[in-house]
Amino acid sequence: MNTMQEGKPLTDMYVADLMIAAEKVAHVQLNNSLEHALLVLVKSGYSAVPVLDMSYKLVGTIGKTVILNQILGLERIEVEKLSDIAVHEVMNTDIPHLKKEDPFTDGLKAVINAPFVCVSDSEGYFDGILTRRALLKQLQRNLYKTNNN
Ligand code: AMP
Repeated sequence: MNTMQEGKPLTDMYVADLMIAAEKVAHVQLNNSLEHALLVLVKSGYSAVPVLDMSYKLVGTIGKTVILNQILGLERIEVEKLSDIAVHEVMNTDIPHLKKEDPFTDGLKAVINAPFVCVSDSEGYFDGILTRRALLKQLQRNLYKTNNN
């Protein structure tokens, strides 16, 4: 975020002002194996990441819990299954999404129930993510400014 955002009232802010751009977001692709997805998640430290198709359109998200549930056997964790299952078989496709031009208040509503929400354009191409952290940071900055004026 640039320093210009600091002086802006929240009513003048849009998802584009706060989001993490696509090129900085870790993602996996539809046909990747769960083994690859788990590696990305563990190495990045994120609990879930967006899933994109071959043309970089947003198709869902995948998280550690869903992957671990897939390999949870009755008596042991069946790690060998990880390479046989593709991301598209188990990813979450029922996800809310925002547009870059949506106002701050839409972003606020969206991150109440999720630590991050994906941002895509009208054709479905992935633009980035809005995190609860970025939004709360901005809210805190503006509250602090208001209280000190
Ligand atoms: P944070 O704002 O760091 O607490 O991130 C909350 C969640 O947003 C993480 O657990 C990830 O699921 C997702 N996330 C944040 N930053 C990224 C990123 N650069 N790439 C992929 N996912 C991210």
